[in-house]
Amino acid sequence: MLLHKDRQKVMIRCNLCGEKYTLVGKKGRAGQVETGFKQCLCNNERDFEIQEIDF
Ligand SMILES: [Zn+2]
Repeated sequence: MLLHKDRQKVMIRCNLCGEKYTLVGKKGRAGQVETGFKQCLCNNERDFEIQEIDF
């Protein structure tokens, strides 16, 4: 069973076009969140603001 403990909701905002994505990822040991998010609609792959949000 998956518990909310190891799942983290994040909001990813593209710094180029301002598009926002809300995703649920898995929190890694180093504290970073793995969401599988690859790129924005505008082809931006690296310039994002990532914010963790509570369920
Ligand atoms: Zn974008």
